[in-house]
Amino acid sequence: MRRVFYSLLFAVLGPAAFAQQRSVSITIDDVPNVRLYEASGYSSGLLQKLDSLNLPVAIFINEGRLKENKAFDKNKALLRNWVSREYITVGNHSYSHPNYGEVGLEAFKDEVLKGEELTRKMARNAGKKLEYFRFPFNAMGKDSSEQVRMQQFLTAHHYISTPFTVESEDWIYTQLYEKALKEGKPDEARAIGNRYVDRSLMHFNYFDSLATAVTGRPVKQIYLCHDNRLNTDFLPVLIQKLKEKEYRFISLTEAMKDPAYSLPVYYYGNAGFSWVYRWMKDTGQRRSAMRAEPGDAETQRAFEAMTKDNK
Ligand SMILES: [Zn+2]
Repeated sequence: MRRVFYSLLFAVLGPAAFAQQRSVSITIDDVPNVRLYEASGYSSGLLQKLDSLNLPVAIFINEGRLKENKAFDKNKALLRNWVSREYITVGNHSYSHPNYGEVGLEAFKDEVLKGEELTRKMARNAGKKLEYFRFPFNAMGKDSSEQVRMQQFLTAHHYISTPFTVESEDWIYTQLYEKALKEGKPDEARAIGNRYVDRSLMHFNYFDSLATAVTGRPVKQIYLCHDNRLNTDFLPVLIQKLKEKEYRFISLTEAMKDPAYSLPVYYYGNAGFSWVYRWMKDTGQRRSAMRAEPGDAETQRAFEAMTKDNK
């Protein structure tokens, strides 16, 4: 079985191996970034760019962010702007982004409910439902019992728990990007942004291939990234490159219709990795596939050096 799996995996790993049209739903977490909003003179560059791109996007909101600075009313207006856009699907990402596996069931239930207070009203006013939830850090609970109990709670509150298949550690790149900009090194910043785009494309290739190997056919991907300065400047570039690769951009609702998202999940820990790995029953195969994921040692090293300097 293992040999069959690997020959299948390697057979499809070639980038030209895909004739079928690929599709992806873009999802953005940790909305709204009120610090960036304040630093940009109370305008949201990312939202403006998305307005001009004409494709569906889903956002996952942390209402607690509205209180990260003193401009609560302005921040609330910003959130309303995000929620009211016709092309945007709205999701709850908890109030203050705790890790479910660390805070436990009761505290996390409160976080879910506190996280929807404004958003639910705003969504209703915009004629939308609030039906998606995404766990912060994609941490679903420390064991199967905690996972089942929270799923029951979410279902009782009419939430669909939202997976993802592709991400590319934009939260690391954005910190290096901000640092380069702050130090007045625009060329370095641009290089970091372009590297993020290139590495993301490698991740798309990898997870397209792996998902096909695991499920037997191409999967409608769900890309996870964040509301940050890097994506303000480089998500449109990534989207353009994906268009050139003939990706179709679909809504989260359409992506979730893919039967892959009804497959059983075989991972019961709290780590936040891709659902493609969670669909793999054999833990040895899962570990091998994780080791084969394209890494970026240079960026990792730069990030570690930066965090050490900040200490
Ligand atoms: Zn998050």
